[in-house]
Amino acid sequence: MPTYHNAGGGYPNVSAPARQAKLDGNQNHHTIPSNVTSHPLIQNNTQQQQQQQQQQHSVPSNLIASSIPSHPVSPTMTMHSSVTTSNITTHMNTTSSPMILTSNTINPGATTALPANPRHEVKLNAMPWFHGKISRETAERLLRPREDGLFLVRESTNFPGDYTLCVCYQGRVQHYRVKYKNNQLTIDDEEFFENLALLVEHYEQDADGLCTQLTKSLPKQGKQDFCVDPKAFVEAGWVIQTHELELRECIGKGEFGDVLLGVYRGERVAVKMLKDNSEAAQRFLAEASLMTSLIHDNLVKLLGLVFNNQHMYLVTEYMSKGSLVDYLRSRGRLHVSKKDQINFAYDTCAGMAYLESRHVVHRDLAARNVLVAEDNSAKVSDFGLARDENFSLDGGKLPIKWTAPEALKQNKFSNKSDMWSFGILLWEIYSFGRVPYPRIPLADVVKCVEKGYKMEPPDGCPAEVYDIMKQAWDLQPEKRPSFHDIKVTLGQLRAEYTKVVN
Ligand code: AMP
Repeated sequence: MPTYHNAGGGYPNVSAPARQAKLDGNQNHHTIPSNVTSHPLIQNNTQQQQQQQQQQHSVPSNLIASSIPSHPVSPTMTMHSSVTTSNITTHMNTTSSPMILTSNTINPGATTALPANPRHEVKLNAMPWFHGKISRETAERLLRPREDGLFLVRESTNFPGDYTLCVCYQGRVQHYRVKYKNNQLTIDDEEFFENLALLVEHYEQDADGLCTQLTKSLPKQGKQDFCVDPKAFVEAGWVIQTHELELRECIGKGEFGDVLLGVYRGERVAVKMLKDNSEAAQRFLAEASLMTSLIHDNLVKLLGLVFNNQHMYLVTEYMSKGSLVDYLRSRGRLHVSKKDQINFAYDTCAGMAYLESRHVVHRDLAARNVLVAEDNSAKVSDFGLARDENFSLDGGKLPIKWTAPEALKQNKFSNKSDMWSFGILLWEIYSFGRVPYPRIPLADVVKCVEKGYKMEPPDGCPAEVYDIMKQAWDLQPEKRPSFHDIKVTLGQLRAEYTKVVN
């Protein structure tokens, strides 16, 4: 499946996901590298590739998902890889530094219903024709039969940082150097493009000096690249001007950097700041682009992005009660009622049922990735790893205690592996934030689970909820229930609790 590519300057990266589970020193976040697993889902998938070919310039919303680069980019790549914040700002034409306003008109508990300009989904561009670092000889071997106009793009071997467009014409392969100049790409120093997808699109419409028009792309086998263009966020109406945002104290630390409290249009918001790192920028934009397409009451809402010379910020609704795991641990049995528990379970399940309906897999569902709003509603957050269900992971780390065995072992992530994690999350809710598999050394957890071991119900856990956990932990993914079904069950349970309390 596809991988993100930073298109700001059109430089595809060697991609692999960076599953950076939030390692906070707590043993429940211990991870193993996922590259010790095999990757059946990244085997050649002709049907998928055909689909992708058809979707070269418009990825359907359920495919707005991709891998995220985690390999260090080479120095030359870093130089050219223009999703560094400075390059983004070049494209954005924004030059001001973050301005701190002195507004005091904060609406304390608001779950942000901020006025917004009409905004659209930000789509990623598939680049099935991008073959990465292959030699001239390999390109010539692959480009067969030599139909006029059959093409691929590769990284230039002679000019690191540049690309080569390889096109078949009259039985031979012509290799055109695609130069990277002033943050743009060009073949002839006349036409300049923001990214490779735009360059290819241009020469698909017209030969414009090439030996022939590009008529047919040769899709790369296996994992393919995507490009994500910061400009697309501007065009889709997701950009917040620097001066509109007031920054306040740090409220958390995430994969990308600090999370700050902010004020935007009089309401509190959360601001994720990106560390200055081009590789992270791609993941950051990837997360943001996914968030533009996923809108549900139980998913943390994206409000917009800020681009400026120094930083990139992702602005989301503010969830004043923080992460669910911290909430459960800090309030404990005395303050978290049975009604709260079933509500948290139901809300999370509703968010997940929505993702399931959109064929998006979360991959890191856990109480630490669910946030609690002022009104106690729970919302699923951290879409950084969310992918369409056919996507395969080939790098990074996995939170062992939350990850389904088939995902750990064979990299098979699906809505069913999310359901396994949901079972663990239910256990967290009913144990008031305990670390799963207490007393089992981390190294033994996978072995125990594979042999069919299932955790006991936490004290006071309703039988019906434990029943859901057991179903979620079925070793056969296809036997696990869907989020849609569990939402119905939890909805009924919730109604009963509400009756009892009333
Ligand atoms: P993340 O980068 O999403 O893992 O966030 C790291 C931490 O920042 C979380 O555990 C929360 O404590 C805090 N945080 C992140 N997003 C929000 C938000 N929307 N509202 C409030 N706190 C947040």
